[in-house]
Amino acid sequence: MPNATDYIPEMVTLIGKLIEKKSAYVSDDGSVYFRIASFPKYGCLCHLDMANLISGARVNQDEYEKEGVGDFVLWKKWVAADGDVGWDSPWGKGRPGWHIECSALSMKHLGEQIDIHGGGTDLRFPHHENEIAQSEAATGLTFVKHWFHVEHLLVDGQKMSKSLGNMYTVRDVLAKGYTGRELRYALLSGANYAKNLNFTWQGMEDAKTALSRIDEWRKRIVDRATSAQPGGVTVVPPDLEKNIVQGLDEALGHDLNINAVLGLLFTWIRTTHKEMDEGRFTMEQAHAYLHAWEKLDSILGLGDATVTIPAEVQALLDQRAAVRKAKDFAKSDELRKAIEVLGWKVKDTAKGQELLPG
Ligand SMILES: [Zn+2]
Repeated sequence: MPNATDYIPEMVTLIGKLIEKKSAYVSDDGSVYFRIASFPKYGCLCHLDMANLISGARVNQDEYEKEGVGDFVLWKKWVAADGDVGWDSPWGKGRPGWHIECSALSMKHLGEQIDIHGGGTDLRFPHHENEIAQSEAATGLTFVKHWFHVEHLLVDGQKMSKSLGNMYTVRDVLAKGYTGRELRYALLSGANYAKNLNFTWQGMEDAKTALSRIDEWRKRIVDRATSAQPGGVTVVPPDLEKNIVQGLDEALGHDLNINAVLGLLFTWIRTTHKEMDEGRFTMEQAHAYLHAWEKLDSILGLGDATVTIPAEVQALLDQRAAVRKAKDFAKSDELRKAIEVLGWKVKDTAKGQELLPG
């Protein structure tokens, strides 16, 4: 996570290069602008209609409307309102425009060309359009091979916003007793990245159910895979594993179609449960599915069901175990409530205390 302010020299160099190539100029207001007329490809990302462009119009703001498209600022001349924010440059004291930082930082760390550039859909214009212009004008190379823009998150079909009172933080979701894995699953399964994801509490419930089905399945597969004689080695025929995972690449290759991937996973789950029920699921298959799951989960990042107990909850649990031993049940109930406040349930079983999220 590089800080933009650590790369002022790189930005200055990049701007200098653009001036040298006549793609940028110092204007009479003392700031440096990118000359969009010098870059015929300008507007390619957002399909701007450049025919109506007013030649020579300049935009000194970082955010502006497509209708007002014009030469954008690369280096802003210092004004009194900037206070002590300013750096020296060949064009005098000033500060970089918003767009140039991304090109400079990206080139420094990732090279002049990158495969994938992500971002929120609201950054398409002007920010990403300008990144393309300034980078490609400087290097003569295609800056980004694939752009992918993520749509905004909705809550119950509405934009998530503080004023509507439908703002949830991750902490709020966890406080309702959901696990991080369940939230992750809900966010993964809600939609393709390029569509609005609609967050609902029902969606969280569905995620919880889906995830417990996955966990249950995985446990069954692991049990089957490890039921071998000790010392026995199971060799998985390579074709078996290949057949299982072949749909994965295809689904992900199709614009990261995560829903198709999850569909495939639940097909695995259905068919393998059936085969296990019917006693015709081999150890080799179990190993092959385990490998396939590991491959899939290296992408999904759902991990296994092991829950990490926060230190403060563990401390309360230990304390509770001690007071129960001393038969101080009033104190034990008090501690149970304290644990519940932190989003966990404690059950007393024959084996001792059992902790459950929620
Ligand atoms: Zn950027």
